[in-house]
Amino acid sequence: MKIIGLKSAVVEGNFDWTFVRVETDEGIRGLGESFFAPGLTSILRSLETVIAGEDPRDIHRLFRKLQLAVSGAGSVAGIVYNAISGIEAALWDVLGQWLNVPIYRLLGGKFRDRIRVYADCHGSEALENLDEVLRSRAPSWMIQDSKHVTRDYFSPSDEAPSSPEAYRKRALAMRSMGFTALKFDLDVPGTQPSDPYCRCLTNREVDCMVQLIGAAREAVGFDVDLAVDCHWRYNVSDVLKVARELEPLRLLWLEDPVPPGNTDALRAVSSRSGIPVATGENLYLFEGFREILAEHALGIATPDLQKVGGLAVALQIAQFADGQSIAVAPHNIGSPIGTLAAAHFCAAIPNFLALEFHASDVPFWDDLVVGSDQPLIKDGFIRVPDRPGLGLRLNEEVARKYARKGEPFF
Ligand code: MG
Repeated sequence: MKIIGLKSAVVEGNFDWTFVRVETDEGIRGLGESFFAPGLTSILRSLETVIAGEDPRDIHRLFRKLQLAVSGAGSVAGIVYNAISGIEAALWDVLGQWLNVPIYRLLGGKFRDRIRVYADCHGSEALENLDEVLRSRAPSWMIQDSKHVTRDYFSPSDEAPSSPEAYRKRALAMRSMGFTALKFDLDVPGTQPSDPYCRCLTNREVDCMVQLIGAAREAVGFDVDLAVDCHWRYNVSDVLKVARELEPLRLLWLEDPVPPGNTDALRAVSSRSGIPVATGENLYLFEGFREILAEHALGIATPDLQKVGGLAVALQIAQFADGQSIAVAPHNIGSPIGTLAAAHFCAAIPNFLALEFHASDVPFWDDLVVGSDQPLIKDGFIRVPDRPGLGLRLNEEVARKYARKGEPFF
Protein backbone atom coordinates (compact mmCIF):
# COMPACT_ATOMS: atom_id res chain seq x y z
CA MET A 1 0.00 0.00 0.00
CA LYS A 2 1.25 3.49 -0.84
CA ILE A 3 0.34 6.99 0.27
CA ILE A 4 -0.85 8.99 -2.72
CA GLY A 5 -2.06 12.13 -0.98
CA LEU A 6 -2.11 14.17 2.23
CA LYS A 7 -5.00 16.62 2.29
CA SER A 8 -6.35 19.01 4.90
CA ALA A 9 -9.51 20.95 5.70
CA VAL A 10 -10.27 23.51 8.39
CA VAL A 11 -13.67 23.82 10.07
CA GLU A 12 -14.55 26.71 12.34
CA GLY A 13 -15.66 25.09 15.57
CA ASN A 14 -14.96 26.95 18.78
CA PHE A 15 -11.37 26.65 17.56
CA ASP A 16 -10.07 25.88 14.06
CA TRP A 17 -10.54 22.13 13.80
CA THR A 18 -7.90 21.09 11.27
CA PHE A 19 -8.48 17.71 9.61
CA VAL A 20 -5.76 15.65 7.98
CA ARG A 21 -6.61 12.97 5.41
CA VAL A 22 -4.08 10.38 4.28
CA GLU A 23 -5.11 8.87 0.93
CA THR A 24 -3.78 5.52 -0.31
CA ASP A 25 -3.60 3.67 -3.62
CA GLU A 26 -5.87 0.94 -2.15
CA GLY A 27 -8.72 3.37 -1.60
CA ILE A 28 -8.38 3.41 2.21
CA ARG A 29 -8.43 6.95 3.62
CA GLY A 30 -7.27 7.74 7.13
CA LEU A 31 -8.50 10.73 9.10
CA GLY A 32 -6.70 12.64 11.84
CA GLU A 33 -6.96 16.02 13.52
CA SER A 34 -4.30 18.61 14.31
CA PHE A 35 -4.37 21.27 17.03
CA PHE A 36 -4.71 24.73 15.47
CA ALA A 37 -1.60 26.79 14.75
CA PRO A 38 -0.69 29.74 12.55
CA GLY A 39 0.45 28.41 9.16
CA LEU A 40 -0.61 24.85 9.97
CA THR A 41 -2.05 23.91 6.57
CA SER A 42 1.08 25.26 4.89
CA ILE A 43 3.20 22.94 7.07
CA LEU A 44 0.93 20.02 6.16
CA ARG A 45 1.38 20.80 2.46
CA SER A 46 5.15 20.66 2.85
CA LEU A 47 4.98 17.35 4.73
CA GLU A 48 2.98 15.68 1.96
CA THR A 49 6.16 15.38 -0.10
CA VAL A 50 7.92 13.63 2.82
CA ILE A 51 5.46 10.72 3.05
CA ALA A 52 4.16 10.47 -0.55
CA GLY A 53 4.85 7.01 -1.97
CA GLU A 54 5.51 5.51 1.49
CA ASP A 55 3.68 2.55 3.04
CA PRO A 56 1.23 4.12 5.57
CA ARG A 57 1.43 1.02 7.78
CA ASP A 58 5.02 1.84 8.79
CA ILE A 59 3.73 4.33 11.37
CA HIS A 60 6.76 4.56 13.67
CA ARG A 61 9.20 4.84 10.77
CA LEU A 62 7.11 7.54 9.07
CA PHE A 63 6.93 9.46 12.35
CA ARG A 64 10.73 9.33 12.56
CA LYS A 65 11.01 10.36 8.90
CA LEU A 66 8.75 13.39 9.48
CA GLN A 67 10.71 14.23 12.63
CA LEU A 68 14.01 14.18 10.73
CA ALA A 69 12.50 16.23 7.90
CA VAL A 70 11.46 19.11 10.19
CA SER A 71 14.67 18.97 12.24
CA GLY A 72 16.49 20.70 9.41
CA ALA A 73 14.29 23.76 10.01
CA GLY A 74 15.26 23.62 13.66
CA SER A 75 12.04 22.08 14.93
CA VAL A 76 12.68 19.72 17.81
CA ALA A 77 9.29 20.67 19.30
CA GLY A 78 6.55 23.17 18.60
CA ILE A 79 3.78 23.58 16.07
CA VAL A 80 5.22 21.34 13.36
CA TYR A 81 4.23 18.56 15.78
CA ASN A 82 0.63 19.74 15.61
CA ALA A 83 0.82 18.78 11.93
CA ILE A 84 2.67 15.52 12.58
CA SER A 85 0.18 14.52 15.32
CA GLY A 86 -2.72 14.77 12.84
CA ILE A 87 -0.83 12.76 10.23
CA GLU A 88 0.14 10.08 12.73
CA ALA A 89 -3.47 9.68 13.92
CA ALA A 90 -4.59 9.34 10.29
CA LEU A 91 -2.01 6.56 9.77
CA TRP A 92 -3.47 4.60 12.71
CA ASP A 93 -6.90 4.99 11.10
CA VAL A 94 -5.53 3.58 7.82
CA LEU A 95 -3.90 0.63 9.59
CA GLY A 96 -7.02 -0.15 11.60
CA GLN A 97 -9.20 -0.14 8.51
CA TRP A 98 -6.70 -2.30 6.63
CA LEU A 99 -6.58 -4.87 9.46
CA ASN A 100 -10.30 -4.46 10.20
CA VAL A 101 -9.67 -3.69 13.89
CA PRO A 102 -10.28 -0.58 16.02
CA ILE A 103 -7.35 1.69 16.89
CA TYR A 104 -7.44 0.81 20.60
CA ARG A 105 -6.70 -2.80 19.62
CA LEU A 106 -3.55 -1.66 17.81
CA LEU A 107 -2.48 0.20 20.97
CA GLY A 108 -2.55 -3.02 22.99
CA GLY A 109 -6.24 -3.41 23.77
CA LYS A 110 -8.54 -1.70 26.21
CA PHE A 111 -8.74 -1.29 29.97
CA ARG A 112 -12.31 0.03 29.78
CA ASP A 113 -15.31 0.20 27.46
CA ARG A 114 -16.42 3.74 28.32
CA ILE A 115 -14.34 6.88 28.51
CA ARG A 116 -15.20 9.38 31.22
CA VAL A 117 -15.46 12.87 29.74
CA TYR A 118 -15.17 16.09 31.70
CA ALA A 119 -16.89 19.24 30.53
CA ASP A 120 -14.85 22.39 30.17
CA CYS A 121 -17.20 25.13 31.37
CA HIS A 122 -14.92 28.05 30.40
CA GLY A 123 -15.81 31.09 32.51
CA SER A 124 -19.38 29.89 33.06
CA GLU A 125 -21.59 31.16 30.23
CA ALA A 126 -18.93 32.82 28.10
CA LEU A 127 -18.72 31.03 24.76
CA GLU A 128 -15.07 30.66 23.99
CA ASN A 129 -14.39 31.11 20.31
CA LEU A 130 -10.85 31.93 19.37
CA ASP A 131 -8.77 32.07 16.21
CA GLU A 132 -5.25 30.71 15.77
CA VAL A 133 -3.63 33.60 17.66
CA LEU A 134 -6.24 33.62 20.45
CA ARG A 135 -8.34 36.53 19.25
CA SER A 136 -12.07 36.25 19.81
CA ARG A 137 -14.27 35.97 16.75
CA ALA A 138 -17.87 35.39 15.72
CA PRO A 139 -18.02 32.32 13.42
CA SER A 140 -20.84 31.70 10.96
CA TRP A 141 -22.76 29.36 13.28
CA MET A 142 -22.90 31.77 16.19
CA ILE A 143 -25.82 34.15 16.41
CA GLN A 144 -24.28 37.12 14.69
CA ASP A 145 -23.64 39.92 17.08
CA SER A 146 -23.05 43.14 15.18
CA LYS A 147 -21.47 44.56 18.32
CA HIS A 148 -18.84 41.82 18.49
CA VAL A 149 -15.48 43.46 19.11
CA THR A 150 -12.40 41.34 18.49
CA ARG A 151 -10.19 41.17 21.56
CA ASP A 152 -7.03 39.39 22.62
CA TYR A 153 -7.41 36.50 25.04
CA PHE A 154 -4.48 37.61 27.19
CA SER A 155 -5.37 41.33 27.27
CA PRO A 156 -7.37 43.01 30.05
CA SER A 157 -11.09 42.55 29.51
CA ASP A 158 -13.74 45.24 29.72
CA GLU A 159 -16.47 42.60 29.92
CA ALA A 160 -18.74 42.44 32.95
CA PRO A 161 -17.17 40.39 35.77
CA SER A 162 -18.09 36.71 35.85
CA SER A 163 -20.65 36.06 38.57
CA PRO A 164 -20.92 33.24 41.12
CA GLU A 165 -24.52 32.81 39.94
CA ALA A 166 -23.33 32.14 36.38
CA TYR A 167 -20.84 29.54 37.65
CA ARG A 168 -23.57 27.93 39.73
CA LYS A 169 -25.97 27.74 36.78
CA ARG A 170 -23.35 26.39 34.41
CA ALA A 171 -22.28 23.71 36.89
CA LEU A 172 -25.88 22.58 37.37
CA ALA A 173 -26.57 22.58 33.62
CA MET A 174 -23.54 20.38 32.88
CA ARG A 175 -24.28 18.03 35.75
CA SER A 176 -27.82 17.62 34.42
CA MET A 177 -26.27 16.47 31.11
CA GLY A 178 -24.62 13.63 33.03
CA PHE A 179 -21.07 14.93 33.40
CA THR A 180 -19.39 13.75 36.59
CA ALA A 181 -16.41 16.10 36.25
CA LEU A 182 -16.30 19.79 35.30
CA LYS A 183 -13.59 22.36 34.77
CA PHE A 184 -13.85 26.12 35.21
CA ASP A 185 -11.43 28.90 34.35
CA LEU A 186 -9.98 31.00 37.16
CA ASP A 187 -8.73 33.71 34.78
CA VAL A 188 -11.97 35.40 33.80
CA PRO A 189 -13.32 38.96 33.74
CA GLY A 190 -13.32 40.16 37.34
CA THR A 191 -10.28 38.15 38.43
CA GLN A 192 -7.77 39.39 35.89
CA PRO A 193 -5.00 41.71 37.02
CA SER A 194 -5.09 45.15 35.42
CA ASP A 195 -1.54 44.45 34.28
CA PRO A 196 -1.73 41.36 32.05
CA TYR A 197 2.04 40.86 32.03
CA CYS A 198 3.00 40.86 35.72
CA ARG A 199 1.60 37.44 36.82
CA CYS A 200 0.61 38.98 40.17
CA LEU A 201 -2.71 38.70 41.99
CA THR A 202 -4.32 40.97 44.58
CA ASN A 203 -6.35 39.67 47.54
CA ARG A 204 -9.44 40.97 45.82
CA GLU A 205 -8.77 38.89 42.72
CA VAL A 206 -8.08 35.82 44.85
CA ASP A 207 -11.34 36.37 46.75
CA CYS A 208 -13.23 36.68 43.48
CA MET A 209 -11.84 33.31 42.29
CA VAL A 210 -12.86 31.67 45.57
CA GLN A 211 -16.39 33.02 45.27
CA LEU A 212 -16.77 31.74 41.70
CA ILE A 213 -15.48 28.23 42.33
CA GLY A 214 -17.21 28.11 45.72
CA ALA A 215 -20.54 28.75 43.99
CA ALA A 216 -19.95 25.90 41.53
CA ARG A 217 -18.96 23.55 44.35
CA GLU A 218 -21.98 24.48 46.44
CA ALA A 219 -24.25 23.87 43.45
CA VAL A 220 -23.09 20.37 42.57
CA GLY A 221 -21.80 19.10 45.90
CA PHE A 222 -18.70 16.97 46.43
CA ASP A 223 -19.78 14.03 44.26
CA VAL A 224 -19.07 15.94 41.05
CA ASP A 225 -15.37 16.49 40.46
CA LEU A 226 -14.30 20.10 39.90
CA ALA A 227 -11.04 21.21 38.30
CA VAL A 228 -9.79 24.76 37.70
CA ASP A 229 -7.56 26.21 34.98
CA CYS A 230 -5.08 29.10 35.32
CA HIS A 231 -3.75 29.13 31.71
CA TRP A 232 -0.14 29.61 32.94
CA ARG A 233 -0.87 33.21 34.03
CA TYR A 234 0.51 33.47 37.57
CA ASN A 235 3.68 33.50 39.61
CA VAL A 236 4.48 30.79 42.16
CA SER A 237 3.70 32.64 45.38
CA ASP A 238 0.44 34.22 44.21
CA VAL A 239 -1.02 31.06 42.73
CA LEU A 240 -0.17 29.30 45.99
CA LYS A 241 -2.39 31.84 47.78
CA VAL A 242 -5.21 30.78 45.43
CA ALA A 243 -4.50 27.08 46.00
CA ARG A 244 -4.59 27.46 49.79
CA GLU A 245 -7.93 29.28 49.67
CA LEU A 246 -9.45 26.68 47.32
CA GLU A 247 -8.12 23.68 49.23
CA PRO A 248 -11.29 23.10 51.32
CA LEU A 249 -13.24 22.68 48.05
CA ARG A 250 -11.38 19.39 47.40
CA LEU A 251 -10.68 20.13 43.74
CA LEU A 252 -9.71 17.49 41.19
CA TRP A 253 -6.78 19.56 39.98
CA LEU A 254 -5.23 23.01 39.57
CA GLU A 255 -4.24 23.34 35.90
CA ASP A 256 -1.25 25.22 34.52
CA PRO A 257 -0.68 27.47 37.55
CA VAL A 258 2.65 28.80 36.20
CA PRO A 259 4.22 29.14 32.74
CA PRO A 260 5.35 25.83 31.20
CA GLY A 261 9.01 24.99 30.76
CA ASN A 262 10.29 25.64 34.29
CA THR A 263 10.36 22.42 36.29
CA ASP A 264 11.52 24.17 39.47
CA ALA A 265 8.59 26.59 39.45
CA LEU A 266 6.15 23.77 38.77
CA ARG A 267 7.62 21.62 41.54
CA ALA A 268 7.44 24.56 43.95
CA VAL A 269 3.69 24.84 43.36
CA SER A 270 3.11 21.08 43.35
CA SER A 271 4.97 20.46 46.57
CA ARG A 272 3.22 23.24 48.48
CA SER A 273 -0.30 23.09 47.02
CA GLY A 274 -2.90 20.85 48.61
CA ILE A 275 -4.52 20.52 45.18
CA PRO A 276 -2.92 18.21 42.57
CA VAL A 277 -1.27 20.25 39.82
CA ALA A 278 -2.12 19.31 36.22
CA THR A 279 -0.04 20.33 33.24
CA GLY A 280 1.03 19.22 29.79
CA GLU A 281 -1.12 20.82 27.09
CA ASN A 282 1.82 22.99 25.97
CA LEU A 283 4.42 20.25 26.03
CA TYR A 284 5.69 18.26 23.08
CA LEU A 285 6.97 14.72 22.74
CA PHE A 286 8.11 12.38 25.50
CA GLU A 287 11.08 14.68 26.05
CA GLY A 288 8.68 17.46 27.07
CA PHE A 289 7.27 15.31 29.89
CA ARG A 290 10.26 13.22 30.96
CA GLU A 291 11.75 15.55 33.56
CA ILE A 292 8.51 16.73 35.21
CA LEU A 293 7.25 13.15 35.48
CA ALA A 294 10.56 11.80 36.76
CA GLU A 295 10.74 14.54 39.39
CA HIS A 296 7.06 14.47 40.37
CA ALA A 297 6.70 18.16 39.57
CA LEU A 298 3.05 17.54 38.67
CA GLY A 299 0.14 15.47 39.94
CA ILE A 300 -1.71 14.83 36.68
CA ALA A 301 -0.33 14.80 33.12
CA THR A 302 -2.48 16.47 30.46
CA PRO A 303 -0.92 15.81 27.03
CA ASP A 304 -2.90 16.98 24.02
CA LEU A 305 -3.15 14.14 21.49
CA GLN A 306 -3.43 16.59 18.60
CA LYS A 307 -0.15 18.31 19.29
CA VAL A 308 2.06 16.17 21.53
CA GLY A 309 3.36 14.10 18.59
CA GLY A 310 0.65 11.49 18.12
CA LEU A 311 -0.88 8.44 19.74
CA ALA A 312 2.37 6.49 20.06
CA VAL A 313 4.13 9.41 21.75
CA ALA A 314 1.18 9.83 24.12
CA LEU A 315 1.33 6.12 24.93
CA GLN A 316 5.03 6.45 25.80
CA ILE A 317 4.21 9.39 28.11
CA ALA A 318 1.31 7.55 29.76
CA GLN A 319 3.37 4.42 30.37
CA PHE A 320 6.17 6.41 31.98
CA ALA A 321 3.59 8.36 34.04
CA ASP A 322 2.07 5.06 35.16
CA GLY A 323 5.49 3.93 36.34
CA GLN A 324 5.62 7.10 38.44
CA SER A 325 2.04 6.54 39.75
CA ILE A 326 0.78 9.66 37.96
CA ALA A 327 -2.62 9.86 36.27
CA VAL A 328 -3.30 11.11 32.73
CA ALA A 329 -6.19 13.39 31.78
CA PRO A 330 -5.73 14.40 28.11
CA HIS A 331 -6.32 18.00 27.14
CA ASN A 332 -8.70 18.17 24.19
CA ILE A 333 -10.30 21.04 22.30
CA GLY A 334 -10.92 18.98 19.19
CA SER A 335 -13.88 17.99 17.06
CA PRO A 336 -15.48 14.52 17.35
CA ILE A 337 -12.62 13.24 15.12
CA GLY A 338 -9.80 14.23 17.47
CA THR A 339 -11.90 13.45 20.53
CA LEU A 340 -12.59 9.88 19.42
CA ALA A 341 -8.92 9.30 18.52
CA ALA A 342 -8.10 10.45 22.06
CA ALA A 343 -10.78 8.10 23.40
CA HIS A 344 -9.03 5.10 21.79
CA PHE A 345 -5.84 6.16 23.59
CA CYS A 346 -7.71 6.64 26.88
CA ALA A 347 -9.11 3.12 26.57
CA ALA A 348 -5.63 1.69 26.11
CA ILE A 349 -3.86 3.16 29.18
CA PRO A 350 -4.28 2.01 32.78
CA ASN A 351 -3.77 5.41 34.44
CA PHE A 352 -6.59 7.30 32.71
CA LEU A 353 -8.53 9.89 34.72
CA ALA A 354 -10.81 11.88 32.37
CA LEU A 355 -10.85 13.28 28.82
CA GLU A 356 -11.70 16.92 28.11
CA PHE A 357 -14.69 18.10 26.07
CA HIS A 358 -14.61 21.75 25.15
CA ALA A 359 -17.35 22.21 22.54
CA SER A 360 -20.71 21.92 24.30
CA ASP A 361 -21.75 25.21 22.71
CA VAL A 362 -21.00 24.18 19.11
CA PRO A 363 -24.40 23.31 17.61
CA PHE A 364 -23.13 21.02 14.81
CA TRP A 365 -20.79 18.88 16.96
CA ASP A 366 -22.64 15.60 16.37
CA ASP A 367 -23.68 16.46 12.80
CA LEU A 368 -20.04 16.76 11.76
CA VAL A 369 -19.51 12.99 11.74
CA VAL A 370 -21.26 9.85 10.56
CA GLY A 371 -20.94 6.23 11.58
CA SER A 372 -20.49 6.87 15.32
CA ASP A 373 -22.83 6.74 18.28
CA GLN A 374 -25.25 9.65 18.27
CA PRO A 375 -24.71 11.55 20.42
CA LEU A 376 -21.01 10.73 20.66
CA ILE A 377 -20.92 11.79 24.32
CA LYS A 378 -23.83 10.41 26.31
CA ASP A 379 -24.30 10.96 30.03
CA GLY A 380 -20.72 12.17 30.29
CA PHE A 381 -19.12 9.12 28.63
CA ILE A 382 -17.93 8.01 25.18
CA ARG A 383 -18.45 4.35 24.33
CA VAL A 384 -15.25 3.01 22.76
CA PRO A 385 -16.24 1.88 19.25
CA ASP A 386 -15.42 -1.56 17.84
CA ARG A 387 -15.59 -0.43 14.24
CA PRO A 388 -12.35 -0.59 12.17
CA GLY A 389 -9.83 2.22 12.57
CA LEU A 390 -11.06 5.41 14.18
CA GLY A 391 -14.65 4.28 13.90
CA LEU A 392 -16.30 7.30 12.31
CA ARG A 393 -16.17 9.44 9.18
CA LEU A 394 -16.42 13.14 8.53
CA ASN A 395 -19.72 14.43 7.16
CA GLU A 396 -18.15 16.47 4.39
CA GLU A 397 -21.34 18.33 3.58
CA VAL A 398 -21.54 19.69 7.13
CA ALA A 399 -17.78 20.27 7.25
CA ARG A 400 -17.90 22.27 4.04
CA LYS A 401 -20.74 24.40 5.37
CA TYR A 402 -18.61 25.53 8.31
CA ALA A 403 -15.23 25.49 6.54
CA ARG A 404 -12.88 28.36 7.30
CA LYS A 405 -12.63 30.69 4.35
CA GLY A 406 -9.18 30.98 2.76
CA GLU A 407 -8.09 27.49 3.87
CA PRO A 408 -7.95 24.35 1.69
CA PHE A 409 -10.83 21.88 1.83
CA PHE A 410 -9.26 18.48 0.97
MG1 MG B 1 -5.98 24.24 30.09
